[in-house]
Amino acid sequence: MPREHDPLPVRAIAPETRKLRTVEDLFASVREHEKKGWIAPAEPIVLTAGCTACATKCVVKAAESSWMINARCGECGGPWPRSEMTAPGLVSVLDLETEPDDQTCLVELAELGLGPGGCVLVDPGDEPPYLFEIPGQHTFSQAHDLTEKVSPESSMGS
Ligand SMILES: [Zn+2]
Repeated sequence: MPREHDPLPVRAIAPETRKLRTVEDLFASVREHEKKGWIAPAEPIVLTAGCTACATKCVVKAAESSWMINARCGECGGPWPRSEMTAPGLVSVLDLETEPDDQTCLVELAELGLGPGGCVLVDPGDEPPYLFEIPGQHTFSQAHDLTEKVSPESSMGS
């Protein structure tokens, strides 16, 4: 059992060049290394939640703290559109043995505050938990330059 004050090891197990954009990408990347256990984002992912003013269900797809800043639907002056579907409301852990549902898969990591260099907790179950580092550079200001300079490193001569 990890003790509470021990810092968790950080593992950059995905290649630096790999782009993780959505929860689905993240899930697939961790799954290459862990067949079971679970992933816990830093904050629960709110998929849908009730407007605090009129109780209408809203589509959120963001970290809990983003929702809490203004927990109202569009009609009550908040940023969140109304939801017509009955999706699960809150996801706090992703079980590695079952695929996340479609709505969770599509949530962008940026919406959860998880950019390159960010970490999510992975607990394989039979090994100590660790932090999975999102691959890529932290330097958001250079992001455009980097993508423009990317050239195919190995051309197989198609
Ligand atoms: Zn409302």
